[in-house]
Amino acid sequence: MDQQIKPLYFDNNATTRVAPEVLEEMLPVLSDLYGNPSSMHRFGGQVGRLLARARERVAAGLGCSPEEIVFTSCGTESDNTALHSAVAANPGKKHLVTTRVEHPAVLNVAQHLEKRGHDVTWLGVDAQGLLDLDELRRSLRDDTALVSVMFANNETGTVYPLADIADICRERGVLLHTDAVQAVGKLPLDLSALGVDYLALSGHKLHAPKGVGALYVRRGAPFRPFVLGGHQERGRRAGTENVASIVALGRAVELAAANIDEENTRVRALRDRLERGLLESIPDARLNGHPDRRLPNTTNISFKYVEGEAILLLMDELGICASSGSACTSGSLEPSHVLRALGVPFTFAHGSIRFSLSRYNTGAEVDTVLREMPGIIARLRAMSPFREGADAPDGGACACSCSAPGKGGR
Ligand code: PLP
Repeated sequence: MDQQIKPLYFDNNATTRVAPEVLEEMLPVLSDLYGNPSSMHRFGGQVGRLLARARERVAAGLGCSPEEIVFTSCGTESDNTALHSAVAANPGKKHLVTTRVEHPAVLNVAQHLEKRGHDVTWLGVDAQGLLDLDELRRSLRDDTALVSVMFANNETGTVYPLADIADICRERGVLLHTDAVQAVGKLPLDLSALGVDYLALSGHKLHAPKGVGALYVRRGAPFRPFVLGGHQERGRRAGTENVASIVALGRAVELAAANIDEENTRVRALRDRLERGLLESIPDARLNGHPDRRLPNTTNISFKYVEGEAILLLMDELGICASSGSACTSGSLEPSHVLRALGVPFTFAHGSIRFSLSRYNTGAEVDTVLREMPGIIARLRAMSPFREGADAPDGGACACSCSAPGKGGR
């Protein structure tokens, strides 16, 4: 078995560690409190009350009422439910509006609906990842069933002005969904004032376990269930509830609310120090996304002439975890759809690394990354086929250190 290593974990937009306080609350539900919350007996009723309490906690953290929360299995299911529901509830409306930088949980659903005859307007973004709200306004039509714009981008952290977008949608009477999977727990959120109709969140991005999410459905907003079966979740999402994880989600949302100031001060300061240090100590490095309108925990930096996956491999040898913005699969070196939408130049896009922090990161960890990264980048640049003066790769080896054949010349 692999020896357990303690990672230097800078990949919190991918997933987070379960908070000890959260684990403590969910454990009894995995052991003694195993009743079905729908059962008539008192044993099940006890579990039903835990479910109700979790719903109240999530609602309190988001500024909505408990009846507006539907528990799901993940952020992806919440997004799927919102899009399919809006479409099913508005059979006469064939138009959807979304952005080119959504997570696949929205992107692929919109593409799927497009293939099935829906008309989708794909809003582009500028070089910093921002939307043109006039373009959004112009895109709305009488037959627009739904607008779906993410709250914050998972790769760059860019935050979108959902309150303004909600005003635009409301003026035209168009429903609005937001994928807030990366925003909940990192930004203060008040649904009573925001004006969105649907909002998706996911437990494992905010220190609850994987496999639990929620969808906010504004009271009065049209809704059609996506998962059919029993009458759980007041008929809005069938399937016996994952009570332990829902209890965990309730506690995690409560903790996130208590820690939101720390997220926006200490975590932000650590992120800024990391970002400044990397940009200052490594030549030909640039920030992707908007410098200010951004999640406090995220920085996405491109290192020219090197391949993100190669950087990750060397970081991994030192126990440093992060993500790259390109995937070297089947010999293809496609940068992510997000970096492409921003128009990040080829020689930068391939060497992009996303660092995403949490309240568990320390200054010492940031120091380690700042100490190690210049050497990693220098080492890779010394052998990069993309570096200045080197011949462009042309059908030779892939530019990262995997063994796939390169496509070259793109
Ligand atoms: N939306 C965004 C913005 C995400 O970052 C993610 C996960 O990375 C998801 C949706 C999907 O969430 P889940 O992993 O809970 O399905």
